[in-house]
Amino acid sequence: MTATKTRRPRIGVSACLLGETVRYDGGHKRSEAVLALEPEFELIPLCPEFTIGLGIPRPPLGLFATETGTRVRRLEDMRVDVTEDLREFGHMTAWKELDGYVLKARSPSCAPEDAPLLDADGETVGHSAGLFALAIREEDAEAPMISEEALADEEARQAFLEAVRRRAGRDRSLASLLQGGDD
Ligand code: SF4
Repeated sequence: MTATKTRRPRIGVSACLLGETVRYDGGHKRSEAVLALEPEFELIPLCPEFTIGLGIPRPPLGLFATETGTRVRRLEDMRVDVTEDLREFGHMTAWKELDGYVLKARSPSCAPEDAPLLDADGETVGHSAGLFALAIREEDAEAPMISEEALADEEARQAFLEAVRRRAGRDRSLASLLQGGDD
């Protein structure tokens, strides 16, 4: 019998929460509570807006309720629509076999649930997950996902981390079977 291989559960994290200066204004939203998840968890930085080629700094985006569904557009020029790019990156991310996500609250791209949903006049008409988070769920509906703000609630934090650990353990079991059951 060989020694058991283990890997740390992998959590995709909005890069700005890790202190990376990727926000539209060139800043970050470093969260000590998120960083404290290491070393038990491997934190994988993700910034969908930067990855799809929007620069730093960049004009801010908004999440819009439209006749063709939820769209992400530039706040000051709604002709600039990055919905499909964000959706594609979300789908690709869902295939990276991450065990969970901690994503920035209220972001039109990243928010797990609470980004303001705007009408054509820029008025808030509701709330929704951001487009990147929605796209991940389109491919992986069961992915554990939480915002850094929700993570501050101890009960929600423990439930999220337990779901991440379970998922990582399930993946290891599958890898073990594929490798002959003795890894
Ligand atoms: S909220 Fe998401 S898209 Fe915005 S800067 Fe942070 S990681 Fe990038």
